[in-house]
Amino acid sequence: MADARTELLAACQAMNAVRLSPGTSGNLSVRDGEGYWITPSGVAYDTLSADMMVFMDMDGKAEGDLKPSSEWRFHLDIYRARDDAGGICHTHSTHATALACRGEGIPAFHYMVAAAGGRDIRCAPYRTFATQDLSDVALEALQDRRACLLSNHGVIALGASVAKALKLAQEVETLAEQYILSRQIGGPTILSDAEMDVVLEKFGTYGQQPK
Ligand code: 13P
Ligand code: ZN
Repeated sequence: MADARTELLAACQAMNAVRLSPGTSGNLSVRDGEGYWITPSGVAYDTLSADMMVFMDMDGKAEGDLKPSSEWRFHLDIYRARDDAGGICHTHSTHATALACRGEGIPAFHYMVAAAGGRDIRCAPYRTFATQDLSDVALEALQDRRACLLSNHGVIALGASVAKALKLAQEVETLAEQYILSRQIGGPTILSDAEMDVVLEKFGTYGQQPK
């Protein structure tokens, strides 16, 4: 497997190529042993190199010259709380953020909402960026989920790898766009809990399975 920093750089470049998060907004990280690598704060994605990534230990101490992402707290708290998190992607993607600016999450308007692990994608209440408060409400919104929205801010997605976290962040953006469009033409029909539970069950065996 590629070195963790190379993996992180590849995810940053992929996120930037599809223009998922404007400017220097958003941040990504990958778990590595007793800590994690995170993007430096306020650096344009197209100028990043693997040696600019910042290593942080599980006590929140950073190594190296560059300042870590200002959101290192929620990355740290997610790695501490969630064994299923090998990578994290935070974005300010346009449609998901538009919903989050209304304090709205994404209900079960489409079966793919289950890709985030549950019957809906929650929206955490507003808290100032880069604070412990924001981390606390984000963790709550991520309970039994792999993604959430952050009011008046953006999206957090996690996955077994940073590539999977990025893929889910892209899925959340697609869902948000579809949901907004559907509302503009009269509003979607919301799937029942029972229908969503069928999908959640099917997702357990969807796609290629290890033999
Ligand atoms: P950083 O550049 O410090 O990662 O901040 C971007 C961001 O999205 C803050 O919420
Ligand atoms: Zn942000």
